[in-house]
Amino acid sequence: MKKLIIAIDGTAGSGKSTTARLVARRLNYLHIDTGAMYRAAAYAVLKENINPDDKKAVEELIDRLKIRLRQSNGMEVLLNDEPVTNMIRTNGVTAIVSKVSSYERVRAKMAEEQRTMGKAGGVVLEGRDIGTVVFPEADIKSRDYHDSTRALSPLIKAEEAITIDTSKMTIDEQVEKVLSIISERQNDQ
Ligand code: C5P
Repeated sequence: MKKLIIAIDGTAGSGKSTTARLVARRLNYLHIDTGAMYRAAAYAVLKENINPDDKKAVEELIDRLKIRLRQSNGMEVLLNDEPVTNMIRTNGVTAIVSKVSSYERVRAKMAEEQRTMGKAGGVVLEGRDIGTVVFPEADIKSRDYHDSTRALSPLIKAEEAITIDTSKMTIDEQVEKVLSIISERQNDQ
């Protein structure tokens, strides 16, 4: 069976994180939680005592970071090979992650890390710019257009994206829907 790259876009509340995690589990794929990666970058900014508003300092730091996700017992986040999985969920990180993720070099670096992890296939990526910026050729995205005011990587629907209206669906229904689209695609190939 060909290992696919599955991209799921959508805003917070669309169920994309849980769906992506469960779809990855069912397919035995790696779940690439891009939010966790941005959080790891923000955690590095805090740890190095860098002012998140200091764009130059943040960008210099980002060049020195390697951020990877690993499937062990659940997903593990590695910052320069050190596990930081629990440290990225603090209020301090949440408070600055938006700022840190708004810088162009940060986004370019994350996209590069995501492509490195995903290029061989067998991954489910989720985030806000996966289908349009990171893997524009990937298969499945659920869309949202409210977040489209951001100039850099705004949340826009990729051409050829498949839209799933999740407003009246349970998580289980979303997972089954995504899996059925994947299996149709695999049969087409
Ligand atoms: O999904 P989560 O809340 O962990 O994401 C943390 C933050 O990372 C988001 O609030 C957003 O600022 C940023 N982010 C992003 N692009 C992504 C994923 C997350 O800018 N693809």
